[in-house]
Amino acid sequence: MLLEVRDLHVEFRTRDGVARAVNGVTYGVDAGETLAVLGESGSGKSVTAQAIMGILDTPPGRITGGEILFQGRDLLKLREDERRKVRGAEMAMIFQDALSSLNPVLTVGDQLGEMFVVHRGMSRKDARTKAVELMDRVRIPGAAARVRDYPHQFSGGMRQRIMIAMALALEPALIIADEPTTALDVTVQAQVMDLLAELQRELTMGLVLITHDLGVVADVADRIAVMYAGRIVETAPVHDLYKAPAHPYTRGLLDSIPRLDQKGRELYAIKGLPPSLTSIPPGCAFHPRCTTARDLCRTDVPPLHEVTGERGSACHFWTECLHG
Ligand code: SF4
Repeated sequence: MLLEVRDLHVEFRTRDGVARAVNGVTYGVDAGETLAVLGESGSGKSVTAQAIMGILDTPPGRITGGEILFQGRDLLKLREDERRKVRGAEMAMIFQDALSSLNPVLTVGDQLGEMFVVHRGMSRKDARTKAVELMDRVRIPGAAARVRDYPHQFSGGMRQRIMIAMALALEPALIIADEPTTALDVTVQAQVMDLLAELQRELTMGLVLITHDLGVVADVADRIAVMYAGRIVETAPVHDLYKAPAHPYTRGLLDSIPRLDQKGRELYAIKGLPPSLTSIPPGCAFHPRCTTARDLCRTDVPPLHEVTGERGSACHFWTECLHG
C-alpha cells in the first residue's frame, strides 16, 4: 500500500481544554487509487491530512499515537529535513483557497518554475519551459503567454488549475486534495474535479480527496471513508456505500443530497450539530443526533465492525441500517 495511516491520534490544547481532533483513524490508499475522506467541518479529516503532510501546527497540535507509513517508511519517525524532502517531491497537497496559497507578487511561471529550480537544479530558462508544459497539461489556454501573468489575473477555476499544476510538478506518488473545488461554482467544480481525476489516472498517483460533499465524490472516488468526531464511522467502495449505507450518519448524509429524480421532495437534514471536540459524547459520538440510538449507544463506543472484507461500520446496529 502506498499510504497507510494506522490508529492515528491528534490532540489540540485550547482555552476550553484538550480537543481530541483525531481519535484512532486508520485508512490507506494504493497507487492509482482515489480515497475520498468525507465529513463535516471538525470531523478530523483535514487534521489527519495535515498530520500526513507534516504541516500540523505544533503546538497547539500534538500527535499522541499511531503511525503514518508512506512507501513503507513511518513518516512520524523521520527528521524534519527528511520530511521536507518527502513533501513536494513525493507527496503534495492541493488546498481550497488558491488565491491565498499562491504568492501574489510572483508570476505563476516563476512560482511553477521555482519547483524545478529548487528540487531539480534546473536553469531558470528550462524551468520556465517546464512551467509552460505544466500549464498546458492542466489546460490553461494560451499557456506560453499567460506564464507571465500574476495569480489575480486568473479566474478562480484557472487558479485552482495552477494549484494542481504546482502539486503535479515533481510527479509525486501521492496527492492530498483538501476541498479542492469548494470555492468554485458548480460547473467549474465539475471541470476541475474531472481534470484532477484524469491526471491522477494518467500518472497512477494515489489521491486522498477530502470533502464535506458526498455529491462530489461519486464519479471520481474508488473508496470512501466517512469521518465523525475524529473517527472513521464507515468505510466502503464508493458504489456499495451509495447503494446501501451501513451507518446511520452516512444514511443521513445521502438523504440530504438533492436528487433530480425527486423534485419537490423536502430535503432531509441531520438534526443537531457535530459535537465539540473538547467534550465528545460518551459511547457512540453520533448518538445525540441519531434517530435509532438505544441505551448501548450512550455507553459503549462502537468498534469498526467488518461488514464485508472491504467494508466497515462503527455502528452497534449496522445490520439494521444496511438492510433497513
Ligand atoms: Fe446510532 Fe447507535 Fe449506531 Fe451510533 S451506534 S450510529 S447511536 S444506532
